[in-house]
Amino acid sequence: MSEKVNLLNFDCQGLCHYLQSLGESSFRGKQLFQWIHQAGVADVNLMTNISKTLRAKLLEYTCIDMPEVVYDNTASDGTRKWLLRLDDGNCIEAVYIPERTRGTLCVSSQVGCALNCSFCSTAKQGFARNLSVAEIISQVWVAVRSLSEEGGKHDHAVTNVVMMGMGEPLLNYNNVLTAMDIMKDDLAYGLAKRRVTLSTSGVAPGMLKLKQDSDVALALSLHAPNDELRNELVPINKKYPLKEIMQICREYFPKGSKRVVTMEYVMLEGINDSEQHAKQLAKLLANVPCKLNLIPFNSYPKALYQCSPMPVIEQFKTYLQHKGILTTIRKTRGQDIDAACGQLAGDFKDKTSRRRLLDARADRMLGQIAIETAAQ
Ligand code: SAH
Repeated sequence: MSEKVNLLNFDCQGLCHYLQSLGESSFRGKQLFQWIHQAGVADVNLMTNISKTLRAKLLEYTCIDMPEVVYDNTASDGTRKWLLRLDDGNCIEAVYIPERTRGTLCVSSQVGCALNCSFCSTAKQGFARNLSVAEIISQVWVAVRSLSEEGGKHDHAVTNVVMMGMGEPLLNYNNVLTAMDIMKDDLAYGLAKRRVTLSTSGVAPGMLKLKQDSDVALALSLHAPNDELRNELVPINKKYPLKEIMQICREYFPKGSKRVVTMEYVMLEGINDSEQHAKQLAKLLANVPCKLNLIPFNSYPKALYQCSPMPVIEQFKTYLQHKGILTTIRKTRGQDIDAACGQLAGDFKDKTSRRRLLDARADRMLGQIAIETAAQ
């Protein structure tokens, strides 16, 4: 592994400070930032407005290191998936979903996940580690670059980013925040705040912190209308139950801002899709500014659940809409290349002890967030 400083770990301000620490003017940091993220240039020698002496210095002390693309495939519906191999051999996935008016990139925040949601295939792999800023933003860099290489029609192909790939983004708080800042920076990818979405399983302290620190959109993986069922499907609910999470969502965006939290609800046959569940859900969401996104469950080998039949999903939607809750059904994309929600599964190098470590690690991370939040 390189001892050099990876320039992809910096946001614009960080890069300016770093350049100053090398005895350069901070303006050079801005130029470098634009070259890397706006122009998509990862070779210092191609940065024409940077002097030869500075280039030599950069080559000596720094690198622009990205994960290697080991798989790049496009599904029949245009969904494209990249499998990226990290320095330590672990793999992560990023998925691009083109639609008529927008192109959404689904980005991973961790190698695996520690939260053990019972229906999610990423959970089955356990947790390996957090991704660095470089590893998170590289997913955007690679996607934007490879899509633009396809020809003119794909310029500005990535209009939205959702932190909905592998991992729980709020348990890799600082790196995710910096990476999202880079996504929104006009000198980089220039995405509007409403077009960058962080999805969480409900890490309450992280949600409170994000509310203070960032203006990105928020999605909550709700999946159940009562604590008993949610404890089973999303075990972190035992730590942060619905009452606490819903209160945070209620106050998340300022009144009058017209911004709402997106509630994600995966449709599991015979588990959370009855009329009774719809009733409970309507009640739970009645005074929470939100929209509801029903996600047809995507199956994978050894999955414990099945997707609710489409008529059941439609009925569920109709009921909630009649109760005044804006409800949509997520279109499943990229299934033929295992790129749909919950199918992301980078292979791990070390699979041996992960199950045992899982709970201990999750607890440690949660503890850390709690401490950081308390220190605010
Ligand atoms: N940990 C974060 C980020 C992952 S987002 C979170 O929980 O929000 C991925 C979204 O897809 C989540 O809403 C997740 O619950 C959902 N999901 C996971 N497995 C799925 C599956 N097999 N089918 C459909 N959706 C799934």
